[in-house]
Amino acid sequence: MSAAGHAIEARNLRKTYRGSRGQAPMEALKGVDLYVPQGSIFGLLGPNGAGKSTFINILADLVVKTSGDVSIWGFDIDKNPRQARAAIGVVPQELNIDPFFTPAEAMELQAGLYGVPKAERRTLEILDAVGLADKADAYARTLSGGMRRRLLVAKALVHQPPVLVLDEPTAGVDIELRKQLWDYVRELNARGTTIVLTTHYLEEAEELCDRIAIINHGEVAAVEAKETLLHRIEQKQLVIRPAGEVPLPDLGGLKVEARADGCFAVSYSPEDIMAGEIITRIQNAGIEICDITTQQSDLEDVFLQLTYHKNDEYSGPVVGEKPVPSTRS
Ligand code: ADP
Repeated sequence: MSAAGHAIEARNLRKTYRGSRGQAPMEALKGVDLYVPQGSIFGLLGPNGAGKSTFINILADLVVKTSGDVSIWGFDIDKNPRQARAAIGVVPQELNIDPFFTPAEAMELQAGLYGVPKAERRTLEILDAVGLADKADAYARTLSGGMRRRLLVAKALVHQPPVLVLDEPTAGVDIELRKQLWDYVRELNARGTTIVLTTHYLEEAEELCDRIAIINHGEVAAVEAKETLLHRIEQKQLVIRPAGEVPLPDLGGLKVEARADGCFAVSYSPEDIMAGEIITRIQNAGIEICDITTQQSDLEDVFLQLTYHKNDEYSGPVVGEKPVPSTRS
C-alpha cells in the first residue's frame, strides 16, 4: 500500500501516439500529475479528446506510456507490473458481452484470466452484490443494458481489486438506471473500494465524486475537492427581455451581454449577489422587464472557464480567475 495513502499516483505522465501514415504524432498526455487518495471516489472530467481514456488505459495496461511514473496501490507499473495489475479492475465503456456465456460463466472465465484459484472465486457472491444473482445462469443476450453494465462491473471485481476504474459508467443509460448504478458505486466505495470514474456529466461528478480532476488537451486544468470546484463554477445567468429596445445597463460591475434575440444576459455568482438585487438594479436603471429566465452554467461552461486561455498562449492553470462563461450559440 502506498505510504502516502494514494491508490494511484501518476507523475509527469506522458503519452504520444505515433502518427500513422504521415500523420503528425499526437501528444495525448503532456506531463500529467495526479494523485488519487485511497478510499475516494475520484472523477476524471474533460471534453472529448482530453486524454481521459489514454490515462485509464495506461492504468489498465492497455496503452503503453511514453514516459513518467505510475503506481497503483503502491506498485510501480514498470517495476511490479503483476501486482499493479492485480490491484485494479477496469470497467470498459462499451457494453460488449459475449452472448454465448451466462453471467456465471463469464465470471469464471474472467477469474481464470486473472489467475484466481477456483477455491478463491466468489462468482455468486459478486453477482449477488451487483443484483444479478437470479440471472447467473441466464443467457447473456437476455440481459438488459443495465444488467450488462452491472455484469461488466462484476467482471472487473473478480480478483477483488482495491481500485476500480469506471469509464463513462452511465453513458447512454436512462435516469433510473443511472441512479441505481450510482447507489452501487457508493456501496462499493463504502465497503472500501477506491473508485476512479470518467464522465461527461457534471451531475454525475457532483453526485458521486469527492475529488474531481478536469483534464483538457492532455493537461490537468484543475484538481480539487468537489465542493471547492463546484463552488468556483457556480455561475448563473439571468436572461432579461426588456420592454422595447434599450442600451445595455451598467449593473455595478456585473457582466452584461447583449443577445441576438434582443434580450441581455447578466452573469453572476449566487454566492456574491442575489437575483432579486440584480432585478432591482435593472429596474433602477429605468428598464422595464418583460420576462426573466435563469441559466445555470453547465459542464461546457466549466471547461471554458477552466481552460479559458487554452487557445491563446496557455501558461498554466487558470483556476482562481473567473472569466465569464461565453454565451454559446
Ligand atoms: P478522451 O478519453 O478524453 O476522449 P482520449 O484519451 O481518447 O481522450 O484521446 C486523447 C487524444 O489522443 C485524442 O486527440 C485522440 O484522438 C488521440 N488518440 C487516442 N487514441 C489514439 C490512438 N490509438 N492513436 C492515435 N491517437 C490517439
